Amino acid sequence: MSRTRRKTLHYARRPPASPPDRSGAGRTLDGRPGLYIHIPFCRRKCPYCDFYSVPYESGIATEYIGIVTKQIRKLNTKFSSVYIGGGTPSVLSPVLLRRLLDSLRPHLTASDENTVEGNPESLDEEKLRILYAGGINRLSIGVQSFRDDKLEFLGRIHDSERAQAVIAAATACGFINTGIDLMYGVPGETLKDWAQELRIAAGSSVKHISCYALTCEPHTRFYRLRHSISQEHGARMYSYTMKFLNARGFKHYEVSNYARVRYRCRHNLAYWANAPYVGVGASAVSYSGGIRMKNVSDVAEYIRRFKGDRALAAGRERLSARRRAKETAALNIRRASGIDFKEFKKMSGFHFWEIEDRRQIMQFIRLRFLSYRRDRAGSVGGIALTRRGFLYADSVSSALL
Ligand code: SF4
Repeated sequence: MSRTRRKTLHYARRPPASPPDRSGAGRTLDGRPGLYIHIPFCRRKCPYCDFYSVPYESGIATEYIGIVTKQIRKLNTKFSSVYIGGGTPSVLSPVLLRRLLDSLRPHLTASDENTVEGNPESLDEEKLRILYAGGINRLSIGVQSFRDDKLEFLGRIHDSERAQAVIAAATACGFINTGIDLMYGVPGETLKDWAQELRIAAGSSVKHISCYALTCEPHTRFYRLRHSISQEHGARMYSYTMKFLNARGFKHYEVSNYARVRYRCRHNLAYWANAPYVGVGASAVSYSGGIRMKNVSDVAEYIRRFKGDRALAAGRERLSARRRAKETAALNIRRASGIDFKEFKKMSGFHFWEIEDRRQIMQFIRLRFLSYRRDRAGSVGGIALTRRGFLYADSVSSALL
């Protein structure tokens, strides 16, 4: 079966904690890269998670933060956004959080958006105050569900009440730009169950909602158990999510992401534009000038290498200009705004039709996965996923690679 015809429904995953391996060339519109800091510690490993993280241990965390802050102090680039992800950055003790934010101060002051990821069980009022006072202006909370039985199934260590209390506490502390992650597609979950969670989310003070289908990735406990729901049910839940959140003012702006006006995540938008970024920490990825590097995914090895003055990157890849352009197309298409041919040319140096197969694109248009974007004069200025096409986003994106 051809790639265009393969009925692979999109099963959105939580985005990679660090800007993922798949990146490419390009410049942010103002030329500044993003900065990503990876905090690879969690209280407990969730059975579906394949991101690099280890159990929190204060001695190792102290040593790790000591190294990361030294690296941050040496950065003399101006960043457009700063994103502290994990793992669970909020497991850091108040002392370590302060230390990390102090080292970042000049960057937090100069950048437009500063995000920290946190989980309800470890985000308390003291840490919220530290983050707010330290220059963080965006919180991303790993709520995952507002149903206790689902949270238990997902191996999460907070309950719904705690999740709602943390959202309220963040707002009371002064955070305006707060986002949450939710998961759907747990075995036995009905559309009615999911709709109830979406209602709670949309009725709260959050400005950004990311919705990911549960997937069973290799090297996770759930992979062995093969928990899954039917593709049709997953598709129904995804379509319902789009309709429901759009109707409540959360604009669908990327495959798995919805935001109120002016609250789209700039850091991730730069990633989908295929702009450069610098990654600091174990397993973090950096991309600049067509070279992509990934740091070792091992905290102890990261510390050893730093102390021994050895390279922290486990791998380095130089991408050809054509490859970078293809990756730009594959990332751009995930946005609701799709691929703008002028922007594409500016970012990649190629005309879209020079590097993509016109027959393939026409096939997607016939299947109603893609539609043309037209300017005011009616000329074709780009392409974008249709509502139906979002269900097949992964297939379309892979076909552009
Ligand atoms: S808390 Fe987040 S990063 Fe940590 S194991 Fe769970 S899903 Fe993964």
